[in-house]
Amino acid sequence: MSLGCQSKPRAIIAWHHPDFAAPLGHDAIMPMRKFADVAQAVAGLGTVLRSPEPIPDPDLLRVHSRDYVNAVRTGTPRELAQSQKFAWSPQLYRSVCLTNGAVLAAGTEALDCGVAAAVASGFHHAHELRGEGFCTFNGLVVAAEVLRAKGRIRTAAVLDLDLHYGNGTASLVVSRPWMRALSIYGNDYADNQAFRDVSVMRHSDGWNHRSAALPAGSGRSELLSTLQAQLPWLVADGIPDLLLYQAGADPYREDPYSPLSLEIEDLRERDRWVFRFAWEHRIPIAWVLAGGYTRDLSKVVQIHVNTFKAAKEIYGI
Ligand SMILES: [Zn+2]
Repeated sequence: MSLGCQSKPRAIIAWHHPDFAAPLGHDAIMPMRKFADVAQAVAGLGTVLRSPEPIPDPDLLRVHSRDYVNAVRTGTPRELAQSQKFAWSPQLYRSVCLTNGAVLAAGTEALDCGVAAAVASGFHHAHELRGEGFCTFNGLVVAAEVLRAKGRIRTAAVLDLDLHYGNGTASLVVSRPWMRALSIYGNDYADNQAFRDVSVMRHSDGWNHRSAALPAGSGRSELLSTLQAQLPWLVADGIPDLLLYQAGADPYREDPYSPLSLEIEDLRERDRWVFRFAWEHRIPIAWVLAGGYTRDLSKVVQIHVNTFKAAKEIYGI
């Protein structure tokens, strides 16, 4: 890993923008306020917050179809513009472009200094031709594509530890042999529907996308043993130039979607494992917040803040 930083990073750099939170309507389940709450909390821990630039259309078009990008920008056709299940508004396009810009900025920073964060979603359910599951443009794959086009990376890996299976990311890496994606999940996801547990359906893996299901009731030992068994696959064919980590808060046992038995501290230990893995293999790592729907928003925020604490521990920041 060639670091632009002269020595180890002195602070975590994280990208955040108040306009991440587009007005979504009263029935939206996504607690958009969490992004501002997490940003405020981590600033108190010494994290340096920066504002991203919105990602430009030509970069979105590296991953998504012109019809879909146009639909999200204009609201027409409405069915496609709302395929991720957010009510369309003129602010939505700016919000998702800023979110994708934050992932790209975090990835760029990670290449320079080893570790960085986007206080934003990764949008792992978004597909080439449409959105899904509150995910509009797949910021993980968009960021990897842009960095590859700029010559900053040749390969990239996505580690998805959100509760839900990262079906959009899997669909997008199929045509990108320079990427690989691993999703360890406890709840299936397809066609805008979250299922209660992994017994409902199984996903077919490909040579560069792989999944591991955590059965209902899984706790710390199952999670950590699965990480131990699966993480080496990410480096089996060589060390990727960048690791993008989808650090979901929704595996938590109180989350309304979660059939798992994971405590908040178990998720912090998960994060330590991930950062230790990246550190030991000298892989630049950028992470995003991903899902988290527990009614008590302070617990969602705590889980996301713990990811920052885990990174600081492992990187000695
Ligand atoms: Zn999720």
